Amino acid sequence: MKILLLGKDGQVGWELQRSLAGLGQLLALNSRSHEYCGDLANLSGLAETVRRFAPDVIVNAAAYTAVDKAESEREQAFLVNAQAVKLLAEIAAEQRALLVHYSTDYVFPGQGSAPWREQDAVGPLNVYGESKLAGEQAILAVGCTSLIFRTCWVYAARGNNFARTMLRLASERDSLGVIDDQFGAPTGAELIADVTAHAIVATLRKPALAGVYHLAARGETSWCGYARLVLEQAAAHGIALQVHAEQVKPLTTDAYPTPAKRPANSRLDTQKLQEAFALTLPDWRLGVARMLTEILEK
Ligand code: NDP
Repeated sequence: MKILLLGKDGQVGWELQRSLAGLGQLLALNSRSHEYCGDLANLSGLAETVRRFAPDVIVNAAAYTAVDKAESEREQAFLVNAQAVKLLAEIAAEQRALLVHYSTDYVFPGQGSAPWREQDAVGPLNVYGESKLAGEQAILAVGCTSLIFRTCWVYAARGNNFARTMLRLASERDSLGVIDDQFGAPTGAELIADVTAHAIVATLRKPALAGVYHLAARGETSWCGYARLVLEQAAAHGIALQVHAEQVKPLTTDAYPTPAKRPANSRLDTQKLQEAFALTLPDWRLGVARMLTEILEK
């Protein structure tokens, strides 16, 4: 089996390089790859890559993910998150390949407190969310065999992440305030990549499993709750910080204005995914604790 992975160096892409490696012949590209074009902003180059490599599975982990910048770079966000995705879907349909793609809870308007189900009405609050929704809709309109995973609050041990920022701020400052009125589940790139590999195998055996799925760790927290867990774990690892977990001040979203509006409710209902693929998703705290052990014990 031939698998094309786009966006190989992003949080999820990096973990997919590991989880997909055992499934077949993997061609993993980033936007700077030479032999094959992996730049989603280069539509003709991208089309040439997919037609030449002729994969059985295309996994698109590349995306324009700069949520605030997207407010002023609408065209680029739509080019990468929608136009390129439509092209991938068209070629996947033509070549009868399975297209795996990632989307976001930001397709939802964020009100209420119930976890979003796959069929709930969408209504993005910002340009990034609009562009991701356009990507999903393009895949579904083309009608290729696809798996679309909507996820939220993604982190990875590699690169910058929220936990590292909290650890730095809590060591540099004597007080720390974090937003306490947006709720979701921090979800590890490792988990997303492992579920993806499992779902690909299952869907190739049973194409009726294709569809849109919500993929997030179990449970929920606010950014403030997330920050507190990070600082608790750091203390448990013997890291000296100026701000302790219980001293983190809860802030409201209004106190921290950003160019892009964020949804207050990022909770995702993952029942459909767990039932379809016979999975039990782990609590968010397990993955965060593991990621922190990796970061702190280096
Ligand atoms: P990252 O930002 O870590 O990775 C995205 C990757 O896409 C980067 O490696 C980036 O490369 C690459 N990329 C950007 N533009 C292009 C382009 N024109 N051509 C090729 N590659 C490009 O994102 P995540 O791994 O966190 O996200 C994976 C998926 O999950 C995305 O679809 C995202 O929308 C979705 N998602 C992410 C969430 C999060 O909290 N991060 C939440 C919900 C959904 P480079 O840096 O070189 O530009």
